[in-house]
Amino acid sequence: MAGDCHNDFCFGDVAQLGERSVRNAEAEGSNPFISTIASLNPNRRVRVFCFGACMNLDLSAYAVCELCPRRCRASRALGVTGVCGCTSTPLVARAALHYWEEPPISGEAGSGAIFFSGCPLRCVFCQNHEISQKGVGKPVDTNQLARMMLNLQSQGALNINLVTPLHYAPHVREAILLARSQGLAIPTVCNTSGYELADVVDAMGNVIDIWLTDVKYADPNLAASLSHARDYPQVALKALDAMRRQLKKHGGPLLADDGAMLRGIIVRHLVLPGHIDDSCAVLDRVWELCGNEVDVSIMNQYTPNEFCRTRADDLSRAVTDDEYEIVLCHADDLGFTRLWWQQGGTVSESFVPAFDGTGVPS
Ligand code: SF4
Repeated sequence: MAGDCHNDFCFGDVAQLGERSVRNAEAEGSNPFISTIASLNPNRRVRVFCFGACMNLDLSAYAVCELCPRRCRASRALGVTGVCGCTSTPLVARAALHYWEEPPISGEAGSGAIFFSGCPLRCVFCQNHEISQKGVGKPVDTNQLARMMLNLQSQGALNINLVTPLHYAPHVREAILLARSQGLAIPTVCNTSGYELADVVDAMGNVIDIWLTDVKYADPNLAASLSHARDYPQVALKALDAMRRQLKKHGGPLLADDGAMLRGIIVRHLVLPGHIDDSCAVLDRVWELCGNEVDVSIMNQYTPNEFCRTRADDLSRAVTDDEYEIVLCHADDLGFTRLWWQQGGTVSESFVPAFDGTGVPS
């Protein structure tokens, strides 16, 4: 692993994985950042931004909220919280440079991450439960959101990385448009659990440049038991398809000369201990839908949280090296060439940033 690397993702081509294991590749000193996508590099760093028409995604959406697949119809505008735990006032727990995403997102400069509070998914193993389920965060309005984006840009962020933002889609969309009008020129990233409505993805397509989306489960029963969302597999694939459509509509994938992603999709999958069959099935589905149109990031950083440590099943432990390698090799066998993986030993709670209001105006 290169000593000056800020994070723990590796990128390789098929030959890097296949017969040789990841560990062997590391032991042999292989360059962990081998690019197979040089042909996608642009001649110049430029983004295409379209102020095209989209579905109504204004503040009235909070009146009877159906912004996510829960469609729980909470009267968020009246202060009622939905399944996501949120009213119509956005809560942000942190806005700061973040170095732990995949290299095309974090690079050396860091990604400008804005961590939103609340989440429509209720994963039992959530690493960010402080913000996803406990409501930690400061209230902000559209102007403040736009200012945070501009501040992150002035700090040198490669992009604006909106972490779990779409239950606040009306505010987020408005804030991006406002920030753009005031000089925001770096790409925007929608960093999502994948549990999104295709219509909302479509409505955000002209303000989001990069989709960094999870595909967590292929098995509805597993999705039901771990995230209370039996429909997750079908919903996430539909959302991913919408992301592909939007990406194509806005020009397709684009990388800067230095490898930073300007437009694109990264599909993330967190391997869960004891569930590698489902991980392989997830990869099958993503391959069928996208092939090598997307980057795929397979993560081994699962860490049992307080709740999972008390469970009497596999979720109380980390993913083993063998489990991880089986999943990586399956990705290789399928033919993914735009693949990111993590070094061994990345299981650490230090991957969770401090949700202390850093960078959020009071
Ligand atoms: S975004 Fe929240 S309030 Fe709206 S439908 Fe989803 S869970 Fe319910």
